[in-house]
Amino acid sequence: MNSYVAHFDVDAFYASVAVRDDPSLRGKPVAIAGSSRRAVVLTASYEARPFGVRSAMPLYKARVACPDLVVVRPQMQKYREISREIFAIFERTGRPVEGLSLDEAFIGLGETTFEAACARAAELRREIFDATHLTVSAGVAGGKMIAKIASDTCKPDGLLGIAPGDEAAFLAPLPVGRLWGIGPKMQTRLSVYGISTIGELAALEEERLRELFGSWWHDVRDLARGVDRRPVEPERETKSISTEETFEYDVRDERRLLEILRVQARELAETLERERSAAQTIGIKIKRGDFTVLGRQTHLAEPTRDARRIFRAAVYCLRRAALDGAPVRLLGTRVASLVDGDPLQTSLF
Ligand SMILES: [Mg+2]
Repeated sequence: MNSYVAHFDVDAFYASVAVRDDPSLRGKPVAIAGSSRRAVVLTASYEARPFGVRSAMPLYKARVACPDLVVVRPQMQKYREISREIFAIFERTGRPVEGLSLDEAFIGLGETTFEAACARAAELRREIFDATHLTVSAGVAGGKMIAKIASDTCKPDGLLGIAPGDEAAFLAPLPVGRLWGIGPKMQTRLSVYGISTIGELAALEEERLRELFGSWWHDVRDLARGVDRRPVEPERETKSISTEETFEYDVRDERRLLEILRVQARELAETLERERSAAQTIGIKIKRGDFTVLGRQTHLAEPTRDARRIFRAAVYCLRRAALDGAPVRLLGTRVASLVDGDPLQTSLF
């Protein structure tokens, strides 16, 4: 017997909710988007996708690509309620649940047979559909990454299990970008070596992998070969401290945003002081008026708990976010890469 993980993800969540609650939308290309001038598509229905409408695409472009697009405003309150229903179903399994977003989670199915693991996932899909009338796709595999790739691959309304021993063959033809941690920059570097699929990456000799990935090469090769032993983590250990502010009215004025960052930096510095720790990573979180969320972070040369240094780093992140006066609904600052002890003493050495 092996240990299995299932990944669940509601199909086109926001759009599916809109169609469910307004049957006149059925079969039509639907996009969920805010109403601001800079609104972006949050979710596109499967009918909109053949037109090239994708999430994160500016709404005006989506309208050009698909003139019949029906645009529906997001209803976050409703999404949160449905999410609670779905997670209650997950929690009732008594298994570890690692939520990734409102409509997405890993469940550790534990030691069992492959058939039993797939049957359990199928049962959960049915339960969610009965409770919410939404379809959820699921992937089942020995590790988290493959379970997630499997559920992405079988969307919508699918279930795909990758049996033990089949992992490498399943991954081999997929583009390298599907691997966790391989971003666009690395994809470009890999393409120089003629590598575009996961299978090609898995077959690279050790020396070349070291050259490309440094000390990380071993993990990359494991992932590319389908070896992934990371456990489902129900509640991630708090390795960061954050504070955030949701505004009653969207804020466009940068001076106000800076003032909020200053207050947050002071608050975080005090918390770090109390806990006698220091942070080397400073990040900000921005939720725009159209509900899209964006984050920026920066790493300092050495850990700090100085309010001014935290503030300067946060300002740097804000400038890099290039908001250009877009309305901001929420602004937060986060410190991470925490180290214990007094940062002044460590910097002496
Ligand atoms: Mg989803």
